[in-house]
Amino acid sequence: SMTIGGISRSRIAAVREREELVYSAARPISQAMIGDGAPGYLGGVPMHWMRDWPMPFPFVVKKANDAKIVDVDGIKLADFCLGDTGSMFGHSPAPVVEAIRRQGKHGLTYMLPCDDALIVGELLVERFGLPYWQIATTATDANRFALRVARAVTNRPKILVFNGCYHGSVDETFVQIRRGWQVNKAGLAGEFRDLTRGAVVVEFNDIQAVEKALAEGDIACVITEPVMTNSCMVLPEPGFHEALRDVTRKHGTLLLIDETHTISTGPGGYTRAYGLEPDLFVLGKPIAGGVPASIWGMSEDIAARWQAYEAAKEPGYSGMGTTLSGNPLQFAAMRAVLEEVMTPNAYARMEDLADRLQQGLAKVIDDNGLAWHVVRVGARVEFVCAQGPLGNGTEAAAAHAPELEAVIHLGLVNRGCLIAPFHNMMLVSPVTKKKHVDRLIMAFEDVISELAE
Ligand code: PMP
Repeated sequence: SMTIGGISRSRIAAVREREELVYSAARPISQAMIGDGAPGYLGGVPMHWMRDWPMPFPFVVKKANDAKIVDVDGIKLADFCLGDTGSMFGHSPAPVVEAIRRQGKHGLTYMLPCDDALIVGELLVERFGLPYWQIATTATDANRFALRVARAVTNRPKILVFNGCYHGSVDETFVQIRRGWQVNKAGLAGEFRDLTRGAVVVEFNDIQAVEKALAEGDIACVITEPVMTNSCMVLPEPGFHEALRDVTRKHGTLLLIDETHTISTGPGGYTRAYGLEPDLFVLGKPIAGGVPASIWGMSEDIAARWQAYEAAKEPGYSGMGTTLSGNPLQFAAMRAVLEEVMTPNAYARMEDLADRLQQGLAKVIDDNGLAWHVVRVGARVEFVCAQGPLGNGTEAAAAHAPELEAVIHLGLVNRGCLIAPFHNMMLVSPVTKKKHVDRLIMAFEDVISELAE
């Protein structure tokens, strides 16, 4: 086709070329530092995805505070990426910095509990409603450990995932539907196992398919985000979560809710806001304000079954736990986040400005006559260069327009706004200012009207 999302390919290429020149010309220092790759790093970057941003080369960051990020060339951006949720509450929130400073003098890791740990335990129960918790260091690990518990207590081998999901680098979730078949995800490196032996994959919002799969009786757990945030943004259809809970209960399958992104909904996540009833609950990234930490919790019933399982199992390594998890620095930061940062007041501000952003972007799309849409879950806004709403991962994959999205991202950077790479996520933090939101709407208007011209 000659167009992507209603925009001509030649126009995309022309705008891209010009925006690349503008970007590079403004960043001689970054270009000298990393334009040809940083020495000492495989692929020229410390993490391979730093190369996958849509800019000609990544800018080198000098510092970030609140919702602003400054590069070595002195360019300031309003940051709506916010570390892909790790800094959802702003960069370096003062209470977290203070907690890190205080704990910094008293040891960073010692494999024993500390007083902040005891307080955090109580805060987690109070905040998220589940009675038993464990700490890990990444959301990936929390998901892996929770899935292990699910298989252990149900004595079932498989999990169910939704097509297009992402729960971190969790091997057993890397399956997809391709031309009607369940297969390993395309692009996986070094995977020699047939992952469909341990996972079933069906479409989100397809409760019949879930029920048919669960009826086999070999599925330990359904793992899902409340909203699919890693496939554009796919909202649950009315009644989907109630039905999912009903069929999982009916078939003795556990339900794991991964709130790592949807914590944008409110202080207790989507789970609290919509009354979901997970058996297992995972939250990573922002829970310690950017210090690597994650939490996973379980219900009374699962905890009792786990204790019985553990008492009966052979002694030896369970496959759960990493050395630096549950360290005092994590607890100091988590306590500060839970007590002083992730507050109802903070969410009220986030919600307010995110609503303004959603409406502003939707108007730009409308004014330019494009059949696109904007979707929002609390503080998380996403524009999609296709008609909505999207119903599942297959529809989301068809809506995803990498070439077009890349030029928009680049154009936004050149106009002072950073949004999340690889998708079109914009996060509004409690310290994001109205003027930042308005700048983003104006930048979007400017880039879109040039593309649509
Ligand atoms: N769960 C969800 C829903 C995620 O989006 C991600 C990462 N984007 C993860 C888990 C994994 O987080 P991490 O990379 O910190 O392990």
